[in-house]
Amino acid sequence: MTSSFSNLSLAEPLARAVAEMGYESMTPIQAQAIPVVLTGQDVMGAAQTGTGKTAAFSLPLLQRLLKHENSSTSPARHPVRALVLLPTRELADQVAQQIALYAKYTKLRSTVVFGGMDMKPQTLELKKGVEVLVATPGRLLDHIEAKNAVLNQVEYVVLDEADRMLDIGFLPDLQRILSYLPKQRTTLLFSATFSPEIKRLASSYLQNPITIEVARPNETASTVEQRFYSAGDDDKRRAIHQVLKTRGIKQAFIFVNSKLGCGRLARSLEREGLKTAALHGDKSQDERLKALEAFKQGEVDLLVCTDVAARGLDIKDVPAVFNFDVPFNAEDYVHRIGRTGRAGASGLAVTLVSGSDARLVGDIEKLIKKKIELEAIEYDDDRPKERINDGRRAWREGADSNDPRSAGSAHRREAREPREPREGREPRDYRGFRPATVSRDPFFAKPYEPSVSDAAPAWEAAAKVPARSGISANIKPKRKVAALFKAVPATEPTSQS
Ligand code: AMP
Repeated sequence: MTSSFSNLSLAEPLARAVAEMGYESMTPIQAQAIPVVLTGQDVMGAAQTGTGKTAAFSLPLLQRLLKHENSSTSPARHPVRALVLLPTRELADQVAQQIALYAKYTKLRSTVVFGGMDMKPQTLELKKGVEVLVATPGRLLDHIEAKNAVLNQVEYVVLDEADRMLDIGFLPDLQRILSYLPKQRTTLLFSATFSPEIKRLASSYLQNPITIEVARPNETASTVEQRFYSAGDDDKRRAIHQVLKTRGIKQAFIFVNSKLGCGRLARSLEREGLKTAALHGDKSQDERLKALEAFKQGEVDLLVCTDVAARGLDIKDVPAVFNFDVPFNAEDYVHRIGRTGRAGASGLAVTLVSGSDARLVGDIEKLIKKKIELEAIEYDDDRPKERINDGRRAWREGADSNDPRSAGSAHRREAREPREPREGREPRDYRGFRPATVSRDPFFAKPYEPSVSDAAPAWEAAAKVPARSGISANIKPKRKVAALFKAVPATEPTSQS
């Protein structure tokens, strides 16, 4: 169901901003949520980033705030009246930017506070007075404790991406923040799923909420070519090199399931000659913005990221997406590959599947309602895999001799070959590294570890994936495998704000 914004009787400044954004009709979540939020009722909305959710809550909030809009310059006349909480810095920043655009023709003020940045500029903004405050929970508590943010006049609170906030462990922070707010208020909660934890949160903090659900994304664009390759954990980097080379791909997102795995993979690929940046929750805001900008400018080719860090990122389209780790949630698969093949462009989504991923691949198959065929990658060379998988070995062999004609050097040149398909770039090699430097780097000193531990060998055997077979027909993982995966958190385990 879609309908026109003109049916809403939005105030002129908001209608003008919406028209300027080029929105023609409302998205389903907007059509359902805006009229309800305009009445001031609590809402529990199941909607994900990319559905137009931000406008769905911020336009009606701004409309209601406009009733007491004032042009006074006194900070006291601009108390925080609406609070929007989000799990990550990127999401907070993006939502704040959108709100600023919708509010640009009003006198309402808005700002954003999140961790990883100096408190001072944020404090200055808060002291000027803002009606709409967008924040991540941890940093907001810092500002509350420093008495920079006073929340006793908040009329509206939005808990956005609530499931992610709980996953990350923000519940105690949320409880504290909510305890500072007036009881008489409107509370809007948005979450990708209504898990029992989310329902509990809602029953504690929402009053007679109206539930709004829009279709979950379970469809993948037909413009995305989805390939599932069988690759042991030791073969996955080699597989990435091979696919990049054979398909002539210049830029891609590579998704991994953990922060640790993210940093490690990025460093490994960088050492292997690819321009790579890592994007995960432990990166400072500055580092993240730089990585994003470098990717947008084409200075970085591979953005290795976790789901949390990538969620809602404003990068419209990439030629390819790799799932280095199969995601724990099938819905994350749809999100991840939705980064490519947008707006009719063709895209490639490559998922690297190891023996212990059977259950996860089965979940994806169920969600996208498509049979997944597992393929084997054909490598250009049949050198022993450890030589290719481990650039350090190639380097060590080369370093044994200074003679460029030595066997080591020859091997080194050969080992680099798959890494040189790109135009106009000096390929990296391993000659720049000295043995001492390498052994002192604790990462380099041990082999690459996959970000998620494999199932025990016996279970792995139970879930063995034969190459080129229909997965569902061949894999019946034991319950133990499922239990193992349940125990692993789907999101980054530490606080990000
Ligand atoms: P969101 O789900 O709020 O992150 O929004 C995703 C993207 O959709 C943003 O770039 C919005 O600017 C855009 N958007 C939101 N509402 C509409 C609409 N009604 N028509 C077209 N684009 C929209």
